[in-house]
Amino acid sequence: TTSPLTDLDIAHKIQLTPITEIAQKLGLDPDDIEMYGKYKAKIPLHNIDHDKIKQSNLVLVSAISPTPAGEGKTTVSIGLSEAMNRIGKKTTVVLREPSLGPVFGLKGGATGGGYSQVLPMEDINLHFTGDFSAIEKAHNLLAALVDNNIQSKTNNLGIDPRTVSLKRVMDVNDRSLRNIVIGLGGTGSGIPRESGFDITAASEIMAIMCLAENLEDLKGRLGNIFIGYTFDKKAIYARDLNAEGAMATLLKDALKPNLVQTIEGNPAIIHLGPFANIAQGTNSVIATRMGMSLSDYTVTEAGFGFDLGAEKFLDIKCQSADLTPKVVVMTATIRALKYHGGVPLSSLTIPNVEALEKGLPNLEKHLENARLFNITPVIAINKFYSDSNEEIQVIIDLAKKLNIKVAVSDGWAKGGEGALDLAKKVVEAIEEDRSNFTPLYDWEDSVMNKIETIAKKIYGADRVEYAAKARRDLKTISNLELDHLPVCIAKTQKSLSDNPLLIGRPTGFTLTVREIEIAAGAGFLIPITGDMMRMPGLPAHPASENINIDLEGNISGLI
Ligand code: ADP
Ligand code: MG
Repeated sequence: TTSPLTDLDIAHKIQLTPITEIAQKLGLDPDDIEMYGKYKAKIPLHNIDHDKIKQSNLVLVSAISPTPAGEGKTTVSIGLSEAMNRIGKKTTVVLREPSLGPVFGLKGGATGGGYSQVLPMEDINLHFTGDFSAIEKAHNLLAALVDNNIQSKTNNLGIDPRTVSLKRVMDVNDRSLRNIVIGLGGTGSGIPRESGFDITAASEIMAIMCLAENLEDLKGRLGNIFIGYTFDKKAIYARDLNAEGAMATLLKDALKPNLVQTIEGNPAIIHLGPFANIAQGTNSVIATRMGMSLSDYTVTEAGFGFDLGAEKFLDIKCQSADLTPKVVVMTATIRALKYHGGVPLSSLTIPNVEALEKGLPNLEKHLENARLFNITPVIAINKFYSDSNEEIQVIIDLAKKLNIKVAVSDGWAKGGEGALDLAKKVVEAIEEDRSNFTPLYDWEDSVMNKIETIAKKIYGADRVEYAAKARRDLKTISNLELDHLPVCIAKTQKSLSDNPLLIGRPTGFTLTVREIEIAAGAGFLIPITGDMMRMPGLPAHPASENINIDLEGNISGLI
C-alpha cells in the first residue's frame, strides 16, 4: 500500500501559522524580518550572530549514491528537525530552494514529502520570493554587458568572442536553447557568436551567492567572474566591465535567506540552490549561519551522495565559512542499496535480502568517507512502505558491526513522531563529541594533488587521467594564478566513479578529467569528468501536464 494522499493533499490539510509567530520562535520580532505576505519572510543579514554560531550545532544530512528518484535527504532533514524540536532541542532546518526545471520536468519539487514538508509548498516550489529570478537577471545583465562591449566602437576591451564561455540562463528545462548562435541580424544587432543557455541553478552567480558572506564580499566575487580573453590574450573579468555594482544591486534581496515553516510549525530557512554536480550543491553560507545564529541545532542538506555534495560542503563551504559540522546523517534506503546490489529500477520494491547485502559496500564506502573527515556518521534508514523488516535488520546489523549509530526514519509517513529515534541518536552523537572535523585537503596544495586526493580517497579510484584540454586548462589556471582555489569536481551522482554504470563500490578504475573550468568568482575550479548537463530537457510527458489552478486559485498536480 502507499499513502492515498499526495504531498499537496497533505500540505493543504495544514493550518499555516503566521510567519511572525514562526519568527518569534527564533527570537525575532516582526521588525526583525521582512514580510513577503503572511507565510514567508526574509531575514536581514544583521541577525547573524558570530558568537552564537560558535555555540550552535551543525548537522549535515547526506546520502549513499542515489537512484534517480532521490533517496530522501530533504525529507529526512525535515523529519529530523521536527523530531529534534519534539525532544526539546531548538532546531532549524536549512534547505535549498527548488528549481523550476525539475518541478515542471521529471523529479518534482524539493520541499520534502509525505508528513515531512516545508510550507507553503506551492510557493516554495514556484517562484518563491524571486531569488532565482534575481540571479537570472544579474547573470543575463552580465552576458548582455559582454556582448555590448564586443559590439561597441567606443568602449571595446578587445574581447575575443570565441573565448567567452559565459552563457545566458533561465529557470526552465529547454534543451533547444543549449547551443545557439547569437548576434544574428546585421551590424546593428551584435557580433555573431556561438553561445547557449544553462538552467539558473547552474549559473556561477548561484554558486557565488551561496558562498558570499555579505554584500561587500558578493561584489568582490561577482567582479572576479572570468569572462574570457582579449585578442592579445589578456584575461578579462566582470570587474573590467564594471558589472559587479549593478549585479549586486539586483541581488540585494536575494542575498537574504527566506523563513518559512514545517508541517509541525517549526522554523525552516530556505535559500538558493546551486547544482550539486557542477557546483557546491548546498544552500548559502548566509542561510546556514542564520540558522546557527538563531537556534541551537541546524540541520542542513548537501545534494546527491556524500561523494558529491558532502565532500564539497566540507572542503569548500565549511572551509570558506569556518563551519564545523558535528554529525553527518547518512541517509540510506533499502531500494537504493538493492539497486547497488544489481536489481533493476523496476524491481526495487520486491524484498530481496541477498541483493541488499550485495549493495551494502556502497553504504560502507560513504561511511568510511565521512570518517575521513573525522565526523561521526549516524545512519538514517529512510523507510519506504515496501521495506521488509528483514531488510531493515540487515542495515542495523551492519551498523552494529561498524559501531555506528543507526535509526529508522519514518518522517515521511509520521512526521516528527517517526524520526524520534533518529533525533535521539543524533543528539547523543553530538553530546559524545567525538567529531573533530578535518578537511580532506589543503587548498594550497597543487590542483592535480587536490583532484587526486578526492579521486583516490573519496571515490576509490586507482588513478587520474587528464585529457589534452584538461592539461591546457591546468596551464591557464596556473597563468591566472588560481592554483590555490579548491576543486569542485563535476561527476555523475549515479556512481562513486565517473562511470554511471559502475554501481556498488567500484574499485580499480581511472577517473578521467576532460577539462577544468574556472569559477574564479565563486572561488573554485571545476574539473569535469563525463558529460555534465547544465540545461536539462523535458521528458515526453512533463510533470507540467498535470499542474493546474482553479477559479479560486487552488493549485493541483504539484508533486
Ligand atoms: P533528496 O533530497 O535526497 O533528493 P527528497 O527528500 O526530495 O530526496 O525525496 C525524493 C522523493 O522521494 C520525494 O518525492 C519524496 O516525497 C519521496 N520520498 C522521500 N522519502 C520517502 C519515503 N520514506 N517514502 C516514500 N516517498 C519518499
Ligand atoms: Mg533534496
